[in-house]
Amino acid sequence: MELRDDIIEELKRLFRAEAEADSKSAIYDNVCEMLHVVRLYYTVKLDGGDQYRNQRTGRLVIDIDEEEGRSVLYDSGKKGGIRRCFNYCFHGLEHIHAYMEFEEGLDESDIDDELCRFLADILYVMTSRRNMQKMLNHAESADSLTGIPNIAFVQKKYNRVTQKKGPQEFTLLRMNLRNFKYINEVAGAKAGDEGIIQYSRKLLRFTDEDECAGRMGGDNFVIYVHNRNLDRFLKRAKSVTISKLKNAPKKQFEIGAWIGVSVLGGDERKSFLDRLNDANIACGMGKSRFKRDVVFYGEDLKKMMMKGRNVIGAFPLAVKNHEFTPFFQAKVNMKTGKLVGFEALCRWLHEDKYIFPDQFIPTLDREGLIPELDLAIFNETCRAIRMWKDMGLNPPRISSNFSKKNLFVPKIENRIMKIIEDNGISSQDVEIEITESMKDDEYERLIGFVKILKGHGLFISIDDFGTGYSSLSLLHNIEADVIKIDKSFTDVVTEDKKSAILIESIITIANKLNMEIIAEGVETREQGQMLVDLGCNLAQGYYYSKPADFQTTTEIIRSASYKPLIV
Ligand code: C2E
Ligand code: CA
Ligand code: CA
Repeated sequence: MELRDDIIEELKRLFRAEAEADSKSAIYDNVCEMLHVVRLYYTVKLDGGDQYRNQRTGRLVIDIDEEEGRSVLYDSGKKGGIRRCFNYCFHGLEHIHAYMEFEEGLDESDIDDELCRFLADILYVMTSRRNMQKMLNHAESADSLTGIPNIAFVQKKYNRVTQKKGPQEFTLLRMNLRNFKYINEVAGAKAGDEGIIQYSRKLLRFTDEDECAGRMGGDNFVIYVHNRNLDRFLKRAKSVTISKLKNAPKKQFEIGAWIGVSVLGGDERKSFLDRLNDANIACGMGKSRFKRDVVFYGEDLKKMMMKGRNVIGAFPLAVKNHEFTPFFQAKVNMKTGKLVGFEALCRWLHEDKYIFPDQFIPTLDREGLIPELDLAIFNETCRAIRMWKDMGLNPPRISSNFSKKNLFVPKIENRIMKIIEDNGISSQDVEIEITESMKDDEYERLIGFVKILKGHGLFISIDDFGTGYSSLSLLHNIEADVIKIDKSFTDVVTEDKKSAILIESIITIANKLNMEIIAEGVETREQGQMLVDLGCNLAQGYYYSKPADFQTTTEIIRSASYKPLIV
């Protein structure tokens, strides 16, 4: 039987409409329409598990078996009707893509095979396209590693739900996992991925209907929950156990997180992305500044941000105008009372007020501006030494702080040496203070940096000694000249036996390695006495002197002698 042109045209029209239709139900409506057209010739009834009905007649019309990626068309369950099997060829590979069964009572001669093939092909294309669309939708909305929603999907869902219930009802959170890198480091990247997958799925379970958790990439997540569920969510998300990772040295890991929280005020209107940005800031501040796992974005934080922005904005001009200036704190031999050195500590003279480093250093550090500040202070220090020499004075060695960020500045040593030369002083007049490093790449660089500077004849001191986790191996690998015992040890040296023992062993090692050792933050005579008893003679602290400006320091250099501790 010839295919009737009008039927073909009608099917083509429907096929086009299907291509334009985007929702599932529209596609199925069109399938039903198509079947309706075919029904002009045949009564094709379809039945089965995943059922769809003809919207008009209410009759079951199609069952799509998607498991094998093919469409299966059944009759209404009555066995014995005529059955057709349609094959589809692709690159010579043939596979069944549709079955069609017809009502009992039909005759072979009643069946138009060409029309049925045409219909089967259309259904096949439509269902495989639907499968593809499903896959695409999934790829567009799910994170490829974990399968949980991605940020685009969370945003879509958030917009939908807040349109209905209002954004004030929901709290938005941004999470960054704590020490997750550790798993990658000890067990490898594969175990790390496995861990992220496990973690993600658990996180998803902490959310209810109308709530959502998604992965933003790496170990970063975005979540929104009902306000009423916030406490419960935080309690659960603060520590999540993941277990049985391949190659991991431990059976299970407790994963904590830095969490930034955005809660909207009564009439506040903010988009999803603006809220995410707020939560992001709170999360970052919790991590780098407050060391607190949950931080809410609010007025305090906003003020701090403004301050941060002011610092960044004012920085270039402040450097140019020499507003950053060193104050000098004396280092003293406690046994003899002799002045043995100074540390240059940065102050910002801004609008006739001195600002202390804790007000601007963290911001400059975050913005990558700290090497510039360090070099500026170093230059001012060298300039001061030149001036004292020109006055006929003989200032002792002065140390200057260099942040770890300097380790990543190419050829920083050349700039340091040029400053020394330009000010006409010697590398023996100064000392470079560097804090202990935590990260492996910093550690490697630190070793190289110290070697180069030592090659130029500079003195190196390890600042805040004892606060890092690699302190002892540092002593072994780095040829530093001076160890500065951190103030936190000095604070407890007279009360805490354990600290005293620790300090004593550090002193013993330093002495054996011919390193100088100096205690920071000595505030009382008792602390000084105890340190001397333990073998540390040098000190820097308020007991002797607070950091002082150029003028006062000039006086100290002229007449300095401190009272020796009676030992
Ligand atoms: P730091 O290098 O550990 O410097 C010692 C800090 O302890 C100084 O604080 C000093 O004034 C203070 N201090 C000294 N003796 C005592 C004491 O007996 N009691 C108490 N309570 N404090 C004492 P300051 O000047 O506020 O500097 C704080 C930190 O800022 C420094 O710690 C250093 O990490 C950083 N910093 C200062 N200037 C610079 C700089 O030019 N570059 C860099 N990168 N960091 C700097
Ligand atoms: Ca220091
Ligand atoms: Ca220090």
